[in-house]
Parts: sequence; structure tokens; C-alpha cells
Amino acid sequence: MRIAISGAGVAGPAAAFWLSRAGHEVTLIERAPQFRAGGYIVDFWGVGYDVAERMGIIGKVRDAGYLVREVRLVDRQGRRVSGFDVGSLRSVTGDRFTSLPRGQLALASYHALGDKVEALFGESIVSVQDKGPALRLSFEKQSPREFDLLIGADGQHSNVRRLVFGPEERFEKRLGYYVAAFEASGYGPRDELVYMMHCIPGRQVSRFSMRGGRTMFLFIFRSEYLRGPEPHDTAGFKSTLENVFADVGWETPQILAAMRGVDEVYFDRVAQIKLPAWSKGRVALIGDAAAAVSLLAGEGTGLGLTEAYVLAGALRDADGDHVRAFQHYEQTLRRFVEAKQKGAENFASTFAPRTAFGVWARDQALKLMAVPALARVFLSSALKDDITLPDYRA
Ligand SMILES: Cc1cc2nc3c(=O)[nH]c(=O)nc-3n(C[C@H](O)[C@H](O)[C@H](O)COP(=O)(O)OP(=O)(O)OC[C@H]3O[C@@H](n4cnc5c(N)ncnc54)[C@H](O)[C@@H]3O)c2cc1C
Repeated sequence: MRIAISGAGVAGPAAAFWLSRAGHEVTLIERAPQFRAGGYIVDFWGVGYDVAERMGIIGKVRDAGYLVREVRLVDRQGRRVSGFDVGSLRSVTGDRFTSLPRGQLALASYHALGDKVEALFGESIVSVQDKGPALRLSFEKQSPREFDLLIGADGQHSNVRRLVFGPEERFEKRLGYYVAAFEASGYGPRDELVYMMHCIPGRQVSRFSMRGGRTMFLFIFRSEYLRGPEPHDTAGFKSTLENVFADVGWETPQILAAMRGVDEVYFDRVAQIKLPAWSKGRVALIGDAAAAVSLLAGEGTGLGLTEAYVLAGALRDADGDHVRAFQHYEQTLRRFVEAKQKGAENFASTFAPRTAFGVWARDQALKLMAVPALARVFLSSALKDDITLPDYRA
């Protein structure tokens, strides 16, 4: 079949990998002018780790990853107040856990495609018409083309979802936070392999030192700190962060100064996507487009890879009957993914606590994680993926 995939993030290239391997003619359509290999750091483990292993990319993923040693919470003077040893996460997952820039994970799948997939960068679909036996897609730049299927893998603010399923507001559940991130070169201090965090009621700022003298910074704040409308461009993101974090201690003034010199800042609301169905006719959604779990689940990338894998496998087993395949894909994964969404929603209240007491209680809980036996009990249930993946490798 001729299959178009919108989005070359984490899920899109993985779907292209499995679909092209099954003999389909795949076209990957990405809005960015070139492949985006950087981005904030994601923790990668669980069922997605298994899929990456099945794709033969786990070596590359681990090479790009960091074996973070410690998460350290500090006060306004930079003194340690709490934290935990990340070695506990690795030990409960049997060392199947790493942390790497989101784009590096995406790149590992993208490189595995070789020249088997057509890739259109700097392009976006503007309309989808169902012509019965095929879909007619119109593009921003190219002439219209026909495809048998369309997979929307274009993220939380999916274009395909908007065109085919309806406006985002209908499916978005906001979790009450905003998140922002940027990368800068030459920032000091560096605390190698330590994830440094400073948290006051409703606001949190963190940094992580990467290779090549780069540092990744992450801001999270509760929605009530945003006064006025949501910003929509880099200048707006920067001035919002300057305002919201103006009175925050630790290295925050220095971090904000570093932000002034960068060209790119990621900024978004923390939200989930909940759709009544993940497919419609010849169009299916995967990854954040279908069912974003949010950063609070810490597993969106792994779920995106898993959705790509199961969708492609279901299509192969259904001998190209897309209706049956799309149903099977959703039946296999929906309950599992919904449970992840629920877990993230429950976690949202403790993530950047509203009050000083909440911050204190959260710090105390983190201190308990320093006790190895307690950490193992807590983490083995938090990191458990309650699903057995079908084996589509043969
Ligand atoms: C700050 C932060 C921290 C996170 N931490 C973790 C973590 O620790 N662990 C984890 O597993 N997950 C984490 N996540 C979630 C994870 O990043 C996402 O779940 C994952 O990237 C989703 O993959 P995706 O392929 O569906 O979408 P994306 O990775 O967002 O990719 C979507 C792609 O579609 C492209 N696109 C968008 N619009 C169009 C268009 N109109 N046409 C063509 N292409 C388009 C985009 O440019 C992009 O390349 C975090 C998220 C954030 C924001």
C-alpha cells in the first residue's frame, strides 16, 4: 500500500520502519525543514525499550543516552534538600533505562530507514479527501497525491487529527501546568550526570549538563502564574519565563540570562489527548496525536514507539484490511495507554506543589527514595508496564 505518515518525531519514523519492512511504499511528511535531533531530555524504558530492541536500534539509543546518577533538589542557596539515586531506576528495570534528547531517540529510528522511505521535509498536509478506494492529500507546497492510508504521528497538536477528527479543544485535557525548555552552550556550573532541580510552590526550574559543553534547562509552572494570553512566539515565551521566574532563587537569574542568548525555546501547556477512537476510515493516529500521556507519565516516547509497532503489525496480520487492523491496534493498546494517562493525572497534583507544605511533603517523600528497599518497592510498581507485546518480528 501507499502509506503517508505525517510527522517525523518519535512515533512517525518508527511506523515508517515497520511499514516499509512489511513491503509498503511509505512517505514521511515533516513540517520542520530538516530532521530535529535535539530537544529536552526524555527518560526511556519499559515497553518502548523492548520495541527499540526489536528494531535493532537500542545500541544507538544507549550510545546517545546518559546514565544519570542522581536527581538532586536544592534550596535557593543551592544546598541539597532532597533527591534520589537514579541507580534505583536502572536496577528495578534490569538496566533497561536511559535518558537522552528526544530528537536523538527519533533519529535512531530515522537512520534505521536507510533509503527505503521517501521523506518530505518542510511540508505539511492541508487537506484530506476520502475518495473511496484511496485518500487524496493536498500539501502546502507539492501537488496533491493519492495514498491508501494516512497515519497521523504529528504530535500533541496534530495537524492530521485537526483535519480528520476535529478541533484540538474537543480532545485536549489540560493538567494545569506549562512547560518550557531550552539548550545553551558554555553554561557553568555543571554537575555531571546529576539532574539539578529547584522547586518553590507552583514553580520548578532544573538543569542537566550534556556532552559538548551543552546544558538543557527545563521550567515547569502552574497555569495560574501565566497572566494574560498564552504566548505564541519565542519572544513571548522568553518574556513569560522572565516574568514567572523573576523572583525564583538558586541559579534562576543566571539561567534566564543564558536564555536571552538562544534562538529556540520550547514552550507548551501540559496536556493529554483523549479521543473516542484512534482511527477514522483510512486514517489512524499514533503517539501523542492519538493519546498524549504528557511529560508527567515519563513514557510518551516509549508508548509512541509501541503504537507504531502494533499498528504496523496489525496491518500485516490483517492482510491489508485496514478496518480490521485499526480496530485490533486500538483494542490491543487502549486500556494500557489509558491507565498511563490516569497515573499521570494522579501525579499532577504532587508534581509542582501549590503550597510550601506541598513542597515539603514532596521533598520528604523523595528522601524516602534514598532508602534502597523502599525505592525498589515504589519504583517497581510505578515503572511496571502491564502488557505483553505481540511478536511481529518473524
Ligand atoms: C518537557 C517534556 C519532557 C518529556 N519527558 C519525557 C520522558 O521523560 N519520557 C518520555 O518517554 N516522554 C517524555 N515526554 C513526552 C514525549 O516527548 C512525547 O510523548 C513524544 O515525543 C511523542 O512522540 P510523537 O512522535 O507522537 O510526537 P513528537 O515527538 O512531538 O513528534 C511530532 C512530529 O510531528 C511534526 N509535525 C507537527 N506538525 C506537523 C505538520 N503539520 N506536518 C508534518 N509534521 C508535523 C513535528 O515537527 C514533530 O517532528 C516529554 C515531553 C515534554 C514536553
